[in-house]
Amino acid sequence: MRISLEAWMLAVAVLLSGCAPKLEEVNSQVPVVKDIHSYANPAEARVRHIELDLQVDFEKRTLAGTVVHLIEGKGKVIFDTKDLKIEKAEASKNGKEFQPTTFKLGAADKILGAPLEVVLPEGARYLRISYETSPTAYALQWLTPQQTAGKKAPYLYTQGEPINTRSWIPLQDSPGIRITYRARIRTQPNFFAVMSANNDQRTSAPTGDYLFDMAQPVPPYLLALAVGELQFRMIGARTGVYTEKVMLDAAAHEFSDLDSMVTAAEQLFGSYRWDRYDVLVLPPSFPIGGMENPRLTFATPTIIAGDKSLVSLISHELAHSWSGNLVTNATWSDFWLNEGFTVYVERRIQEVLYSKQRSEMEFAIEVAELKQEMATLPEKDQLLYVDLAGRDPEDGVTLVPYVKGALMLRAIEEEVGRERFDPFVRGYFDQFAFQSITTGMFEAYLKGKLPELKLDVKEWIYKPGLPKSCPVISSFLLANVDVEIAKWKKGQPIQTKDWVAQQWLHFLRGLPAELTADQMAKLDREFQFTKSKNSETLDAWLILAIRHKYAPAQVALEEFLSRVGRQKFIKPLYQEMAKTGEGKARAKALFAKNKANYHPIASSAIEALLAK
Ligand SMILES: [Zn+2]
Repeated sequence: MRISLEAWMLAVAVLLSGCAPKLEEVNSQVPVVKDIHSYANPAEARVRHIELDLQVDFEKRTLAGTVVHLIEGKGKVIFDTKDLKIEKAEASKNGKEFQPTTFKLGAADKILGAPLEVVLPEGARYLRISYETSPTAYALQWLTPQQTAGKKAPYLYTQGEPINTRSWIPLQDSPGIRITYRARIRTQPNFFAVMSANNDQRTSAPTGDYLFDMAQPVPPYLLALAVGELQFRMIGARTGVYTEKVMLDAAAHEFSDLDSMVTAAEQLFGSYRWDRYDVLVLPPSFPIGGMENPRLTFATPTIIAGDKSLVSLISHELAHSWSGNLVTNATWSDFWLNEGFTVYVERRIQEVLYSKQRSEMEFAIEVAELKQEMATLPEKDQLLYVDLAGRDPEDGVTLVPYVKGALMLRAIEEEVGRERFDPFVRGYFDQFAFQSITTGMFEAYLKGKLPELKLDVKEWIYKPGLPKSCPVISSFLLANVDVEIAKWKKGQPIQTKDWVAQQWLHFLRGLPAELTADQMAKLDREFQFTKSKNSETLDAWLILAIRHKYAPAQVALEEFLSRVGRQKFIKPLYQEMAKTGEGKARAKALFAKNKANYHPIASSAIEALLAK
């Protein structure tokens, strides 16, 4: 299916002239909050809608083409850009005839990029910007065939959150400025392109020319694109998985519960409002666990364990269809509204789908990780509402917004009971659907809906550490592991039958700080950790292998670091190596060798830690 630009502009015009869906109306009523991480001037001129027309060039590693912005307001429009080559700007009153207009690209800031000011002539509503991305654009990762799972064709994917979309599209890149979008993406004929949008071509043969449509307003960080030799497999009526051919069977098997997941979430928190829920399984270099791009979660293949033991990540990304994608943080200081709610909802989905024990076990592990990380964080970064002035919002991505946020919601749930709290959460998602809100708006809503609440919410949000009111998350499944660890310390045989990945993780983390070469060898002989196919277990084991200089795992360590780019796994490995002088030299050598396989998000984090 292909729609001409004209037909598309007409559709937009109709949409904006009074036949707009309810959500668009709701969206337009919400005031935009000042966002220190964007140059945009939405109070004067605000983008409502964009249309992209881009050519993907794997040889030059660029995207080139145009973006048409539909503007509400007048005067000059300020866009965010990062390392973009702006060729021209044109304005139009009707979206058909465009005339050149003046533009000025300002000086670039290291974090924010450069502001692009474009003059919107009297009466004009559309601005068209012709541009090209840089081969090193922060949001784009261009993979060589060698860096993919199939090793045959190159691959491209984007990661927009938090403020990277501006490195592939000049736009008003603030989570408070929601836009609808459509896109035409052209690439090689044998490649598939997918986006966080509706795509009717999923089951047809590749053509190299694709159209996408996102009719619900989304924050710019949720614009996402991936291009490669992808295949699609249906899972349920509204779910499916895209990935490279070599991973398709394993991915479809691992995610066979997708439909039940969506249904479980709907029963808890109201209808799923994004039509389809598909998952794109990326090559192993993907730097994060998952990204909740609407309609199309991007996920790391490291959660494919063969036994569905790590699918809570999908529950997490799906949960974002309510918390984050539907109700979004207005600024990056409010990030906990996205992630704290999502971790809470994820726990509830896991509980319905699997069991309360499993969900509590997963939560208990996260809480332990939070406490460990919090001990290393300055007090200012232990607040839910974090001060990011002069900082990259990626600095705020710790476990605090995620797990401390979820713990606060759990504390409220425990105080008022689920019969009060569940309707509250559901009502919150309905009230703020398709809006971007601040922490203050959440507080006011909470006060209005649960006036009897005694919990000191301000302490949770604005004070460091975990308050005394913090719920205790206990797991008997992990307590059983503790019993076995105690036996192991005494040299007694241990019972590990039916242990799942989280229990193994807890076991490895609970071993004594000092382990002899013999003990390491015995553990490996008995439990085959070096050969583990579970990425969580293997990663925890490799950390021990580095710490205790366990030689037989060193080949596995090098193989893991060359194959996997997920920051959560590789950063602690480099960190562990860097603790000794000799280890640091090795870490630097391995990093130099593998850097090209990592996404800039991961490589810059590792670079920073090795430079210390
Ligand atoms: Zn998340």
